[in-house]
Amino acid sequence: MEKALAAVRRLNGEGLSCTLDMLGEDVGDRDAARRVRDGYLELIDRIAASGVNANLSLKVSALGLTFDRAEAQANFEGILTAAQAKLADPFVRIDMEGYALLEPTLAFFEALWPAHRTTGPVLQAYLHRTPADVARMVELGVRVRLCKGAYHESRDVAVRGHAAVQSHFMACAVQLLRGGIYPAIATHDAAVIGAIREIAPTLGRSNDDFEFQLLYGVRPDLQRELVQAGYRVRVYVPFGTHWARYLRRRMLERRENLMFALRSFAGGK
Ligand SMILES: Cc1cc2nc3c(=O)[nH]c(=O)nc-3n(C[C@H](O)[C@H](O)[C@H](O)COP(=O)(O)OP(=O)(O)OC[C@H]3O[C@@H](n4cnc5c(N)ncnc54)[C@H](O)[C@@H]3O)c2cc1C
Repeated sequence: MEKALAAVRRLNGEGLSCTLDMLGEDVGDRDAARRVRDGYLELIDRIAASGVNANLSLKVSALGLTFDRAEAQANFEGILTAAQAKLADPFVRIDMEGYALLEPTLAFFEALWPAHRTTGPVLQAYLHRTPADVARMVELGVRVRLCKGAYHESRDVAVRGHAAVQSHFMACAVQLLRGGIYPAIATHDAAVIGAIREIAPTLGRSNDDFEFQLLYGVRPDLQRELVQAGYRVRVYVPFGTHWARYLRRRMLERRENLMFALRSFAGGK
């Protein structure tokens, strides 16, 4: 937590806002889910005490959604309430996990939405169904993060291939820029970012009316360039001890990440 907050402070100094994710997903019992909740409650206190510019991201499977929805809801509401009471930016993003958890996660979100407006889900552009989900979130007036999608899904539910995913992403991004509330465009794809920069003003979006989001350590040059060009940029900063699954997804995206990881375990640079 200490190191994550130091990283956030450094990024804030470069004009980047952050979202902190305490790594963890798919816990199997109530005690583990409550430990995750307590970790987030401590994190909220530490963000408030340090005064850094950061909100939160989390996976609802880490709060118990897969085995006890009421437990997950109570844990999540505890986090939302504490964030609202203590943080300058109380927004808590619900990360999207694999397809099996999509419906439960969106249902979980919609059950909370009438009473809690400081949260919103992630939608994955590679899924065939996502335009309909974007339309629903636009109708509700929810803040959505759009990403390409990080899980290996079957062709029945998702498109494959760089060009197809890119074109789905652009279609969903345009839909969000047209009607969405403060969309978050989460990608490192320079072609997509370039296209969004061109299209956003034609859809009535000013630079402070949406944000780009990128992962910590990925394309820091692009992160700074976007800030210098006057865009809002939020960096997703994951931290903690439960890093294996996160690392696996990043390695599947890019093999070079395996070398970065091995070098850092070996104590190198
Ligand atoms: C802020 C944020 C939040 C996210 N949240 C979720 C979520 O909740 N659920 C979910 O399923 N997915 C999430 N993702 C991951 C996302 O779905 C993609 O898997 C990931 O961003 C890679 O896709 P891309 O859009 O960057 O494009 P790509 O076409 O994969 O990459 C474009 C270029 O970016 C660079 N790049 C991309 N990824 C990496 C990497 N890991 N390391 C180094 N360079 C890289 C490379 O130069 C690459 O050529 C999130 C991504 C971001 C940025």
